Amino acid sequence: MTNAKIDLESLLEERGALLGGHFRLSSGRHSDRFVQKFRILEDPELVEPLARAIADEFRAQRPTVVVSAAIGGIILGYEVARHLGTKAIFVEKENGVPALRRSFALSASDRALIVEDVVTTGLSVREVMALVSQSGASIAGVGIAVLRGEADFGVPTYALLHLPMQSYDPSDCPQCRAAEPVTEPGSRRS
Ligand SMILES: [Zn+2]
Repeated sequence: MTNAKIDLESLLEERGALLGGHFRLSSGRHSDRFVQKFRILEDPELVEPLARAIADEFRAQRPTVVVSAAIGGIILGYEVARHLGTKAIFVEKENGVPALRRSFALSASDRALIVEDVVTTGLSVREVMALVSQSGASIAGVGIAVLRGEADFGVPTYALLHLPMQSYDPSDCPQCRAAEPVTEPGSRRS
């Protein structure tokens, strides 16, 4: 599933984005590997071609808006929108509940392309899909930079890189059983 034009896995390795340890993912699951996506997202020269590849994949569906999930998705979604000539809006948590804030609006005539940087369980993609559907807009597809698990969102889905990695429910995590301290690299300083 690797995009032939962009060797994203090599880029992730070169930039030190593939970490080993004991991580609590944003989904709540634990894993001994973590993709520090900001080693890519912090560099506009890398984001541009990745976003272009996602935009090219969905251009024929003529999306009218790109919708992503805060925080990493904002950067990638914005750049995808630039290539498609659409607006870029994002979903963020309001009192723990995913919401469209900042007077972002979708209408029934919109065809939303959902863009996410790293997908493990697909929970955040499903949350964005639910909000888009509530607005009456249709979903043109889901574009992903790195897909860590399986994705079946029932809409056209494209990932630049499929990088399956094992993750565990905390109650079933071998590293927890070995009493290894867990870190939260997604939102903390590592
Ligand atoms: Zn664990």
